[in-house]
Amino acid sequence: MTDRFPKINLEEPLLPEIIADYIIDYIRDNQMKANDRLPGELELAQSFGVSRGTIRSAIALLKSRNIVVRRRGSGTYIAEKPGMVDDPFGLTFIGNKMDSIRSLTETRGVIEPGVAALAAENAMPEDIKKLEELRDQVEECIRNEVEHIHVDEEFHIQIARCTHNPMLVRLVQETLKETMPLLGISGDFDVKETLPQAISAHRKITEAIRTGNPEAARLAMIDHQLAAMHLVEKYSGYVPQERV
Ligand SMILES: [Zn+2]
Repeated sequence: MTDRFPKINLEEPLLPEIIADYIIDYIRDNQMKANDRLPGELELAQSFGVSRGTIRSAIALLKSRNIVVRRRGSGTYIAEKPGMVDDPFGLTFIGNKMDSIRSLTETRGVIEPGVAALAAENAMPEDIKKLEELRDQVEECIRNEVEHIHVDEEFHIQIARCTHNPMLVRLVQETLKETMPLLGISGDFDVKETLPQAISAHRKITEAIRTGNPEAARLAMIDHQLAAMHLVEKYSGYVPQERV
């Protein structure tokens, strides 16, 4: 793999950072996926013409960004969700729990109606089939009064998958990953009262996506997200003070 990497200026003070960027280019150029194995430390060191210590520092940087993981005695692999870190929005430091819930719910209200509209434009028959299955599963959980949050989350992620835009899938996944536990586990919220609305909204959204009607999908999702926002406002006693 001698020609795969450019020649590096060894006097460069930010050498590990630069090597890390080249390794990222290599991962992208080779379309490496989760769990693919990176070339070994020695091979990388020889290819770049740098020390193994520099390669180790570069790999450590990639590891801290959750791009790669090390497996003891086996090597370095592409991470499950490369580049995604825990708490990507830094919510831990934004404010209290109620602030986080409000920010996340507003964010979903902005993103998901557009996602639903795009889903109606781009969904393939197999995407729709899966969406209908998840819609039914959510209803079944609600009817049997068992925990439905997880399936509900999957339903919304499936809408994002219908767009065939991986960035939107991740955005929706991340906002949901943060919101659902806060809403569901938190004793502050009684989501029960929103369930009939959720069932009807899910049906309307699914139908709009099935029939390829972006505007109907958008409106049904707006209704669904507004119901969530009203719930948050009710429990937080939140009244917007100032709009800037
Ligand atoms: Zn829902």
